Amino acid sequence: MKQLFLTFGFLAAALPGLAATKVATLHPILADLARQVGGANVEVVEILKPGADIHHFEPAPKDLAEMRGTKLLLASGKGLESFLDKLRDSLGADVKLVEVGAKIPSIPFEEHHHEHGDKEPAEKEKDHDHDEHDHHHGSEDPHWWHSAENMKRAARIVADELSAVDPANASAYAAGAKAASKRFGELKSWAQKEIAKIGKKDRLLVTAHGAFGYFCKEYGFEPISLLGIGRSDDASSKHVAETIEEIREHGIKAIFPEDQANPKVLAEIARSTGVKIGEPLIADGTAKAAHTFETMLAHNVRSIVAALAPAAGAAK
Ligand SMILES: [Zn+2]
Repeated sequence: MKQLFLTFGFLAAALPGLAATKVATLHPILADLARQVGGANVEVVEILKPGADIHHFEPAPKDLAEMRGTKLLLASGKGLESFLDKLRDSLGADVKLVEVGAKIPSIPFEEHHHEHGDKEPAEKEKDHDHDEHDHHHGSEDPHWWHSAENMKRAARIVADELSAVDPANASAYAAGAKAASKRFGELKSWAQKEIAKIGKKDRLLVTAHGAFGYFCKEYGFEPISLLGIGRSDDASSKHVAETIEEIREHGIKAIFPEDQANPKVLAEIARSTGVKIGEPLIADGTAKAAHTFETMLAHNVRSIVAALAPAAGAAK
């Protein structure tokens, strides 16, 4: 076995770029997915790296130069990257820009998100390209990578796109996507078993920003977020009061900050309701300690179950 690894290592080192298709990525989870699906046939160029802020990232000139050397650029899509049209123009036809989220079913972002001025959804659409609303790119929730089913879809999309730019390795990409999907499915089964420890009526997930819609849909939670979809909005006092009421009504035991957001309002809610503050969840998939779908989901499920399952208090 060791011998085999050494041989592979030697070949990879001795023949750099012989067959590797260069793929640039705008999200760490997409970088991991490209590696899982593409294996040794791809070389991933991570433009947006772990630790970066996906809601406020803009490519710098050096990023553009790096992207220009690749065949494929994978973006999350669903309005997350507001700069894609401009980027597509400046990259030209040599780099294929793929919004992986484009073919993944969206959930609308509306619940528990209180716009200043109570705009109707139709009016929000009209605001679509106002730059000052950088976190309101329309009505789609862009955090699709919290769902295992969406990740399976994404694996197939990435395999198809890799096959289009590198047809010689199409069967390897299809096999890579199949293997990744199997792992995602196994993780989902584990997550479902863990979450079953939380009673259905206790599945209210109060978080800092509106990142957990797809997670909540997949695992039967009701999401309540305090900051809206792009983390920049302030929570209105009306919304905070409503959240406190929901926590009391459902007897919710914990609320969750995030690795990149811990607004003061969470501490205020904890003070006035007596709920615990749970472990920070990984919301945008860019935590330095966990920036793959699998490590992110495992961390989030463990943290949520530890705080919300009935035995948590006694066991801890
Ligand atoms: Zn987010």
